[in-house]
Amino acid sequence: VSGVSRQWVILGVACVALTACNAPSTARPMYDRAEVQMEASEQAKVAKLVPKNFNEKKNYSSKQILEFAARLDYVASKIEPAAAHLCQELFRGQQNCNYQIVFAPKEKGINAHADGKDVVVYPALIDFARNDNHLAFVIAHEFAHNIMRHVASQQQNVMGGTILGTLLDVAAASQGYDTGGQLGSIGAQAALLSYSQDFEQEADYVGLYILARAGFNLDDAPHFWRAMSTANPDSIYSSVTHPSNPERFVSMQKTIGEIRQKEKAKQALIPNFMTKS
Ligand SMILES: [Zn+2]
Repeated sequence: VSGVSRQWVILGVACVALTACNAPSTARPMYDRAEVQMEASEQAKVAKLVPKNFNEKKNYSSKQILEFAARLDYVASKIEPAAAHLCQELFRGQQNCNYQIVFAPKEKGINAHADGKDVVVYPALIDFARNDNHLAFVIAHEFAHNIMRHVASQQQNVMGGTILGTLLDVAAASQGYDTGGQLGSIGAQAALLSYSQDFEQEADYVGLYILARAGFNLDDAPHFWRAMSTANPDSIYSSVTHPSNPERFVSMQKTIGEIRQKEKAKQALIPNFMTKS
């Protein structure tokens, strides 16, 4: 292969790899920077005035664990069917929509995670959630990750990034540059980070539709992020993998507006999707 055509091969592969990247497919309502900044200063003010100390590593008695499990059961009984119905309406038999909630009483941290099949909930999250609306929102968010297949998409993106980076390593080596295989891992990292914020936002967006269908209080849901900022003021500002709490708060308020309009117009509560061009 001559020098020129080799460049075209690399360019071609790069294009294929980039367009094959799995991006979120929903069309969320817009918001602007100024709104996020206003909310950020509000959250910073509250975090300073009424700091909340919450020990994430707390040990719980077996009585508390039983109480958490009962509370989770109640929320699950409403969120599980609502999530399954939305999933079936979106994918009409092309996807298995039976995702289960699993309680993990030994795990530490205000956390829950979705692995593509289950939604795993940690006790400190249930303890921290000040009411069932907040708990239901976090669980709906995790169901949304599963429904929108974020886990598989991230894995594919990472693989694509690794392949692309490795091809560039090989190309560089053929030109006499030794990259030590670093571009492969940079590619994987870049792929992991490029969409993870968007996937989080999409999970909040689709999660609110699940919450509405399950009959929980929508207006209260964004306040979960204010509570998180009060307990952990660092999260007021952006991280690499997650949108900042103020951003999520503002974005969720816009989504609630969108859902209310659909309710008023007696439209089905289905998230908006990007139209394929
Ligand atoms: Zn998430």
